Amino acid sequence: MSTTVIGNIGSLVTNDPALGAGPLGLVENAAVVVEDDRIAWVGPTAKAPPADTAFDAQGRALIPGFVDSHSHLVFAGDRTAEFNARMSGRSYSAGGIRTTVAATRAASDAELEANLVRHLDEARRQGTTTFETKSGYGLTVADEARALRIAAAHTEEVTYLGAHIVSPDYAEDPAGYVALVTGEMLAACAPYARWVDVFCEKGAFDGDQARAILTAGAAAGLIPRVHANQLSYGPGVQLAVELGAASADHCTHLTDADVDALAQAADTTVATLLPGAEFSTRAQWPDARRLLEAGATVALSTDCNPGSSYTSSMPFCIALAVRDMGMTPDEAVWSATAGGARALRRTDIGVLTPGARADLALLEAPSHVHLAYRPGVPLVSAVWQRGVRAA
Ligand SMILES: [Zn+2]
Repeated sequence: MSTTVIGNIGSLVTNDPALGAGPLGLVENAAVVVEDDRIAWVGPTAKAPPADTAFDAQGRALIPGFVDSHSHLVFAGDRTAEFNARMSGRSYSAGGIRTTVAATRAASDAELEANLVRHLDEARRQGTTTFETKSGYGLTVADEARALRIAAAHTEEVTYLGAHIVSPDYAEDPAGYVALVTGEMLAACAPYARWVDVFCEKGAFDGDQARAILTAGAAAGLIPRVHANQLSYGPGVQLAVELGAASADHCTHLTDADVDALAQAADTTVATLLPGAEFSTRAQWPDARRLLEAGATVALSTDCNPGSSYTSSMPFCIALAVRDMGMTPDEAVWSATAGGARALRRTDIGVLTPGARADLALLEAPSHVHLAYRPGVPLVSAVWQRGVRAA
């Protein structure tokens, strides 16, 4: 057993209202004691118990490591040209995914893993300590299974997304592709995954297809989450709530009934907002304020992927959410930490309470508010993952 005390924390975000002020459970002049991979103690610096080693935070802010509950990081290739064309006036549709599918199928296992690790390191340096990531750029039984196998070596939060788009190999037979996704492909992928996801959208999968895919995944022991209502109004959010999905992701085009459904399901289905996608496609922002006022649980995530949101930066998403989606800085920081944990149905991360995992991000700033106040500035100056200095 080894212990470390991190003292002289100017402002500590615990996300536990029992430990400090407001929903963020803010503690000033705080200390945290880490014992191996867990938080052992939280309180004022003056009362901190002795530990084997000490780290002086010098008045800076400490927050829980970010929980990025939605990314697509098993891929190869690059879509600079598509982004450049879109910023020159063309609109985004779901079809660009096919470009990445071709590159991913052509890549070796080692290339895919090296690319994944590079992006995970990049995110970690920006304070992310838990990553969800998905398949969805293979779209064959073998390519989807290998994507999940590679992902599972680097994170416990792995999502089967064989239903990202209809495979180009089944362009004339979408029903045949759904049969594959719910049959042989699911059987090959389920051992590596915790979650099942579907892109429920015009040009991808409709409500009936999405229901079949999520129901089959659930029968195989996977928990549903849904790409819902991103590019247009549709059945995704209602389906997510009906099936008890952990998260409805995007939630950009919502009817009042969709908002009500998410509010009613606040303890079950999180509304995960992905502002990097709207930024990178110049699309309408999701209305976080409307969801929060209604009582929905809101998470923020990067959606990091090479097509529609090529950012791994949770601080960037926080800044966008505050500037353009009506969130306060406190709400955005909560959604990027505790909210992400809720979207992954985890109670051991996203909070800094005794017993929680020692996943921490130290900011080169006196307050978490600087994450929105100083957009684009690399404020994360140290990261601990399971109690070990990771960046
Ligand atoms: Zn996505």
